[in-house]
Amino acid sequence: MRVAIVNFSRQNLVSPQEIMAAVQRLPQEHYAKIKIIRYDPERSLALEMAYINNNPESLRARGTYLHDWESSDSVVVIYPFKTRDVFFHTLYHEIGHHVFFRVLDQSLRDEWFALRRVEKGFVSKRARKDAREDFAETYSCLCFRCRLLNHAPQKADFMLRKVFRRVPAARRYV
Ligand SMILES: [Zn+2]
Repeated sequence: MRVAIVNFSRQNLVSPQEIMAAVQRLPQEHYAKIKIIRYDPERSLALEMAYINNNPESLRARGTYLHDWESSDSVVVIYPFKTRDVFFHTLYHEIGHHVFFRVLDQSLRDEWFALRRVEKGFVSKRARKDAREDFAETYSCLCFRCRLLNHAPQKADFMLRKVFRRVPAARRYV
């Protein structure tokens, strides 16, 4: 199934072709079940989520990953961004959430939780928040900002061997 790239004509920092190319360099199973990558310039989904969850933090989100259990469709939503770097970081971060929930099996998720108890390094401030954010941030760094992985070498190794299943793969994702 082809991922639909929706609404990105409402900005001019990245083209739909670049977004598609950025997605297709990932292992196919990482994005095969993502139906839509949608730009939400009004942040309408973030506003709605902040309201529904009574969580003002949602207002600051750069993106959201959604899974509809009924249709089994997954959707990535991206909010306004000022630079291409922020866009690609957010795109891979949200895809990282999808991979964690929908691609990994429970034993790998458990391994990730256990790994977090031994390795105290993090690739970013956001990664410290919880295991899911840590996974999404580390995933994004593997795709996009490899040098930050020096802060969490064991997690980087887990990503390469267990999630991307390519050794050595680091160079391919710089
Ligand atoms: Zn996140």
